[in-house]
Amino acid sequence: MEIIGLIGGMSWESSAQYYRIINEGVRDRLGGVRSARSLMFSVDFGEIERLQHEGEWQALTGQMIDAAQRLERGGADFVLVCTNTMHRMADDIAASISIPLLHIADPTADAIKAAGFQRVGLLGTAFTMEQDFYKGRLTDRFGLEVLVPDDADRSIVHEVIYSELVVGEVRATSRAAYREIIARMIERGAQAIILGCTEIMLLVRPEDSAVPLFDTTTLHAQAAVKRALRGLSR
Ligand code: GLU
Repeated sequence: MEIIGLIGGMSWESSAQYYRIINEGVRDRLGGVRSARSLMFSVDFGEIERLQHEGEWQALTGQMIDAAQRLERGGADFVLVCTNTMHRMADDIAASISIPLLHIADPTADAIKAAGFQRVGLLGTAFTMEQDFYKGRLTDRFGLEVLVPDDADRSIVHEVIYSELVVGEVRATSRAAYREIIARMIERGAQAIILGCTEIMLLVRPEDSAVPLFDTTTLHAQAAVKRALRGLSR
């Protein structure tokens, strides 16, 4: 079994979900008390969040490269960055290590295409919804059409992530707001919704949407399991 390297802590609320899903995935495939071989380097999100909002992407890139290199030195066979937002510097991270980086958008787009959808709504941080690093990959590599919420709705989605979900607060009022935002994207033609922030799965469930949800946390973690178990039957 290959060793999964995880850059976590962004936030640890979602990293805990990765750890659970990965271990459940290995147990489901191999049975009994089997579990994943993994390493996690978990950052202090306080500093990350501040640098993000100050637009200090160069410093953040340095931190992600440092984390990835620590995982490689520790023996990881491949690396996952356990957040959508920090895929802004995915190419720089990948270029700084000699083991593969599993990009979070790829298993997500594969699952959407396998389900036969083409026009998707994207929920995530303002960075993910507004900058091109994520939408661009979905469009250019996978031919998907990506809708994002309007200005006011994007602010709500972003605010709920940073003031509530990353500190483990799951509020019914915020779920109701997300439901309405999802409904508005469906009205505009979204055939499916990407939960493009790794904490949104803590808040939004399939029953909150009239179209299928594609949760990046689950799809990314499952892709890691698949890769770690390549060539193993039991
Ligand atoms: N976990 C979130 C994401 O998937 C947001 C936290 C972060 O900014 O890294 O984008």
